[in-house]
Amino acid sequence: MKKDVLTLFLICLTISVFAQPNRWQQRIKYTMNVDMNVQTNQYTGKQIVDYWNNSPDTLFRVFFHLYWNAFQPNSMMDVRSRRQGTIVLRKGRNGDEIADWDPRVEDRIVNLAPDEIGYEKVSSIKMNGREQKTKLHETILEVILDKPILPKSKVNFEMEWMAQVPLQIRRSGRDNPGTQVRYTMTQWYPKMCEYDYEGWHPTPYIAREFYGVWGDYDVNISIDKNYLLGGSGYIANANEVGFGYEDKGASVKKPSGNKITWHFIAPNVHDFAWAADPEYKHIVRQIPNGPIINVIYNGQASRLVFENMNAQQRAAYGNDFNKYAASWDAQWNAVADAAVTVFPFIKKTFGDYPYKQYSFIHGGDGGMEYPNCTMIVGPGLGTAFHEWMHTWYQMQMGTNESEYPWMDEGFTEWATDRVEEYYRQQVSRKTLTNNPAELRKSDSLATVPPAYHQNIYRAYFTLAKSGLEEPMTTHADHYNTNYAYSIASYSKGSIFLSQLGYIVGDSVLDKILLEYYNEWRFKHPNANDFIRVAEKLSGVELQWYKEYWVYTTRTIDYAIGDIDMNGNNASIVIKRLGLMPMPVDVLVTYKDGTQELHYIPMSLMYGEKPAENSIKRFVHDEWKWVDPEYSFTISKAVTDIKSIEIDPSQRMADINRVNNKIVVP
Ligand SMILES: [Zn+2]
Repeated sequence: MKKDVLTLFLICLTISVFAQPNRWQQRIKYTMNVDMNVQTNQYTGKQIVDYWNNSPDTLFRVFFHLYWNAFQPNSMMDVRSRRQGTIVLRKGRNGDEIADWDPRVEDRIVNLAPDEIGYEKVSSIKMNGREQKTKLHETILEVILDKPILPKSKVNFEMEWMAQVPLQIRRSGRDNPGTQVRYTMTQWYPKMCEYDYEGWHPTPYIAREFYGVWGDYDVNISIDKNYLLGGSGYIANANEVGFGYEDKGASVKKPSGNKITWHFIAPNVHDFAWAADPEYKHIVRQIPNGPIINVIYNGQASRLVFENMNAQQRAAYGNDFNKYAASWDAQWNAVADAAVTVFPFIKKTFGDYPYKQYSFIHGGDGGMEYPNCTMIVGPGLGTAFHEWMHTWYQMQMGTNESEYPWMDEGFTEWATDRVEEYYRQQVSRKTLTNNPAELRKSDSLATVPPAYHQNIYRAYFTLAKSGLEEPMTTHADHYNTNYAYSIASYSKGSIFLSQLGYIVGDSVLDKILLEYYNEWRFKHPNANDFIRVAEKLSGVELQWYKEYWVYTTRTIDYAIGDIDMNGNNASIVIKRLGLMPMPVDVLVTYKDGTQELHYIPMSLMYGEKPAENSIKRFVHDEWKWVDPEYSFTISKAVTDIKSIEIDPSQRMADINRVNNKIVVP
């Protein structure tokens, strides 16, 4: 009965409550012409930036990112990285000290030679045809306007600049020794900073997160004819550039001369990235009812990977490079095949992919997400899935990553786990087709196995006990350690969702994520926007969850207390030892093999989750959050009990699980 009332309540809510948010946002259009010199590793650029000030504010200045200026000795990125090198996190296995710096950056920037540094030098910037005054703050260009930009008005900026591609240190750059890819062109052009309801976000580049204005890109890149490019958006002159981009059966007509111009169009994105290499190979797949998948990788890099293998790894290929080279191609093909396999699940679970193509591009220094593409250092499927899922939890949301890195990395990490699990089940299905019973089991994908995200929880527990944890409200750049930033963003951010599934029910969580996608994509949602969607769909108040989990570093610890005889009944005491209050699931298993789930909602919820499985459930009165103890009665004797366990699903991030279960001897 209760359940039916709740269902009806939820249906009414979904019909009536979801008005579209009317928060204003700026809009932009970049029209760029870029001329790349692959001998000097420099390029010249011109761009027209149409900028719509949709805010109610008058703008007296604007800001542009010049990210590559970070790759110069004594830049903020360099100084910060070397400082992190002085922070010892712990001792390694062989007693060596593990420092906090990113192993890719360390002190490499200070050692860059003049032809290895990166820069973007803006020689001219005009607004509506009039030259403007500028002030350079390393990676941020401040433009002091001669006339303010009025609310609800549009201007255009005309900019000329020249840039040098840095030797790859972090994310972008040239000639990464790992991939041997010549150019990873990311964070590479003067990019307008975002202005929103909080004002300007001129965040200096110290290697962290990005935030940009939604808009359209029209990019012409003139480059050596032998280079194959991949990137954001679509190639408008595909039949001229060829390399597998051409229409089926089309004859490619390349222009004469040494250079060719690639014309990219990327609608409705908040950044544009590309990569180029003369040794790139190109795999194309069309997903039925989905986008085209491009996989672009350096065919020659297999030699280097093989040379860097240890004896055991090489023996797996019979010490035969040709065998490995064939497997290199197969691994990149597997990325394309896997994307085709998982897309229907992603679309159903997280929402549609509204663009025509997505490219997995060999480049960068790990895995980094961009609109319509990712730069990945190798063909690992885990990384490929993670970066693609950023299309849902960053590229379509455009959350301010500096303020809410956990909504970007954490949500992506959580979604990646779901996709990986689906993929594993699909792959195992192929071997299960002769066993219908097993096959049926593998269809129940909605059920996440207990302790599914175990590694993620373990990483968070270690941070929580380390003394280095900082609240998730910390600006991504301002965490004291890279370690605290990364575990808070990836692990604690991922647990934000899995634990929300514990609070409101996993099936409700799935609905929340789809509604979040429908309501907030292309609109820069913040943490509260997500919580409001969750509240509306679950009928549970959740501000307390945001306040404790996001704003503080308080931890959860529940324990089983006394169990007393009470006539033919038993009373069970549960203790709250941690400072963060939570609803509590208690599983009681009896000696006759039967089980009961005792569910105790927490008072600040003003609601409860639906039953999540077929175990007989008892819903108890709410636990007032100030009370350190709670007791409930079961209608069986103590002697009938085999075990009592708090949160058997292990979705609650209880930092001390030792006191969560007792087994009656
Ligand atoms: Zn990520």
